[in-house]
Amino acid sequence: MALERTFSIIKPDATRRNLTGAINAKFEEAGLRIVAQKRIQMTKAQAGKFYEVHAERPFYDELCDFMCSAPVVVQVLEGEGAIAKNREIMGATNPADAAPGTIRAEFAESVGENSVHGSDAPETAAVEIAYFFAGLELVG
Ligand code: UDP
Ligand code: MG
Repeated sequence: MALERTFSIIKPDATRRNLTGAINAKFEEAGLRIVAQKRIQMTKAQAGKFYEVHAERPFYDELCDFMCSAPVVVQVLEGEGAIAKNREIMGATNPADAAPGTIRAEFAESVGENSVHGSDAPETAAVEIAYFFAGLELVG
């Protein structure tokens, strides 16, 4: 398996409840390295562009309001097969369906306020990393 980088967000429901460290521990325990990280607060326009692929979905407006309602922590995670591995660590979108021990099973509040975002493929990982990080910020 190749060394990959994926993009992650610790969402507002989690930063509000002081869960940044607990979530980062899950990544590190699973062998993912946090190679870049910063805490930001998105504007609604920035959240809207990030989730553009969901623009036609009924939850889009609520999702964008939620994502800019409080600070988030944006991150780049690196490791062998990091994209799929992170999706495993995160668990299913709906915490009711998430496997025990996953971030969403332990921390998510609802299908919308589900604590983390993770890229779903190499192409989206590259686009999402470049949306939030300059090359010089990726120090490895
Ligand atoms: N979402 C929602 N309601 C839904 C499905 C998704 O509010 O019925 C939100 C949720 O925050 C989710 C995000 O939209 O994480 C993006 O949805 P996606 O299907 O890409 O799920 P993910 O890749 O985050 O597991
Ligand atoms: Mg997704």
